[in-house]
Amino acid sequence: MSINETKLGVRPVRAFADNYIWLIEAPANPRKAVVVDPGEAAPVLAELHRNGQSLAAILLTHHHADHIGGVAGLLSEAAVPVFGPDDARIPNLTRKVGEGDAVDLADLQLHFQTLFVPGHTLSHIAFFGHGALSCGDTLFSAGCGRLFEGTAMQMSASLRRLSALPPETRVYAGHEYTAANLKFALQVDAGNRAASDYRDRVSALRASDLPSLPSTIELENRVNPFLRCDDAAIRAAAAAHSGTNLPDPASVFAELRTWKDGFR
Ligand SMILES: [Zn+2]
Repeated sequence: MSINETKLGVRPVRAFADNYIWLIEAPANPRKAVVVDPGEAAPVLAELHRNGQSLAAILLTHHHADHIGGVAGLLSEAAVPVFGPDDARIPNLTRKVGEGDAVDLADLQLHFQTLFVPGHTLSHIAFFGHGALSCGDTLFSAGCGRLFEGTAMQMSASLRRLSALPPETRVYAGHEYTAANLKFALQVDAGNRAASDYRDRVSALRASDLPSLPSTIELENRVNPFLRCDDAAIRAAAAAHSGTNLPDPASVFAELRTWKDGFR
């Protein structure tokens, strides 16, 4: 089995109201872990301690405080490399990575490709490797991030790239928003049986206080309206909501994003 086929041990650390900080266990040494988007240091340190692990590296997808706020606290415990996008708003980076760059942690047998996925922010990146995608606030299960800085065109292109990853790719998103996202998905795409079945599974998981994540690209391609902008039912629903003709998937995406922003 090649390194990149090694299935990773990944587990969530909860932070704030609904963030997930993802801890990735190093295949080469289960006592070492890499953390993605540590918005807070204390729960990460507690989880590492509980498992007898030490931190080996930090990966950052974007500059928002709920994704980087714990970096300084973690570095004060251990000087580890910090990988993230080239953005002056992100302090403490030791290695700036962008499209086409690799994060190679050979001693840990970890290897990730960096994908540039602007939209939620202008410098947002994602990490892909070992069949796992760390996508921050770009792709959520059954939804996507808000357009704080980028355009609908940028976000729609970013999501199309993620949608084209291998279907079995596990999706580790930054927030537990799945139930609310599915409510919107079923408003837009009421006849989508995969989405209503998923809603029932998510509702059972959440009732037991279990994470709905990770999802998979295959599931997202079936249930996530933001990945299905060329679907006839979704195009029709978006056009009806906008009251205008929406000529292409990017304009369907833009309408869905605006609609969701005001959806309760
Ligand atoms: Zn964010």
